[in-house]
Amino acid sequence: MGLATAHGLARRGREVTLVAEGDAARPASAGNFGLIWVQSKGQGMPAYSAWTARSATLWPDFAARLAEETGIDVAHRQTGGLHLCLGEAEVEERARFVAQMSNQMGAAGVRVEMLDRAALREIAPAVGDAVAGASWCAMDGDADPFRLARALGDAARARGMRRIGGAGVAAIRPDDAGYRLEMRDGTTIRAARVVLAAGLGNAALAAALGRSFPVRPQRGQILVTGRLPRFLGVPTTHVRQTAEGSVLLGDSKEDVGFDYGTTMAVGAQIAARAVASFPVLGGARVVRTWGALRVMSPDGFPIYQTWPDLPGLWALACHSGVTLAAAHAGPLADAIDGEAAPPEIAQFTTERFDVPTALAG
Ligand SMILES: Cc1cc2nc3c(=O)[nH]c(=O)nc-3n(C[C@H](O)[C@H](O)[C@H](O)COP(=O)(O)OP(=O)(O)OC[C@H]3O[C@@H](n4cnc5c(N)ncnc54)[C@H](O)[C@@H]3O)c2cc1C
Repeated sequence: MGLATAHGLARRGREVTLVAEGDAARPASAGNFGLIWVQSKGQGMPAYSAWTARSATLWPDFAARLAEETGIDVAHRQTGGLHLCLGEAEVEERARFVAQMSNQMGAAGVRVEMLDRAALREIAPAVGDAVAGASWCAMDGDADPFRLARALGDAARARGMRRIGGAGVAAIRPDDAGYRLEMRDGTTIRAARVVLAAGLGNAALAAALGRSFPVRPQRGQILVTGRLPRFLGVPTTHVRQTAEGSVLLGDSKEDVGFDYGTTMAVGAQIAARAVASFPVLGGARVVRTWGALRVMSPDGFPIYQTWPDLPGLWALACHSGVTLAAAHAGPLADAIDGEAAPPEIAQFTTERFDVPTALAG
């Protein structure tokens, strides 16, 4: 989300310096599934449904502008997306979830519907007999995360963004001119304003400023097949065929700390679900697997934080950086640059995690 925000600020004419770690860093932005996903977002937090829907609505213009500015097609599609249910029990569970969410989603302008197998086959004829139904949302879509990162970087650099790679930031200290970034290699950088968008690294950077920024890693493993003839024209939560024909399989969730590895057990589960969903995948060859760490807040919703005694400093985190990229480059960057904050994000501060002392224990 750092690149999207940097791009938004550079578009507003700000002088932006992106301070990154070296190539050894394994950002979530380089290992994600590429969904722009609305249908399951925001249970218990209507503002998140609305914020996600707003980003999905901004995405077509955002992608077109990136293509115009950089010549890079980020492969954005808003085809609608499917959450497939294997067996009747999953259909019932999903239908309950969709019903529970319907008022909230309706208020955000999002329509999610359950499809029976016949209706589903109209959209995805290759689904297997094990698939008993699905939920469908026309606002869902996807994009190529690698091309997105490249396009955002190129577009921001064309508008003057500088990138300082290498050591990374050890600590940030307020000083007379704003902030002093103390780098791990002993050098310092001064900035009038700072946006902390270091993913899981934000916890330590905020702690050095005496602030709590509660994010934890959640690992997701992804498998990629070689190119296959097109069998799937819309993304699903577990299986996504890219514009080039390769197929991404995933959506695992594990609490394993800072372990980026992959395991046979989880890979086998992902593959089994994918083959049950689309039997054509039974003959596919997996050419690559990886693990990557989501940046999770305690309730899973984003954090967009400022502190009154640290003027000009924002700290950001989310676990849907592709979905929200258009909102981060647009209305969030505008707010960071001093415009009124979008109403949807007012609740996304760390104060929601504070337990009143009177209730503790
Ligand atoms: C398996 C998986 C699947 C996902 N699928 C989707 C999806 O389908 N759709 C979607 O919208 N989102 C998805 N996401 C989430 C998305 O990738 C993240 O929301 C997004 O990448 C988070 O971006 P970030 O910039 O906050 O963190 P990161 O991408 O982790 O980037 C943080 C950056 O900060 C750098 N950094 C850390 N500490 C320091 C420091 N001290 N100094 C300097 N630099 C530092 C890191 O090196 C890194 O480059 C997925 C994530 C995972 C892991």
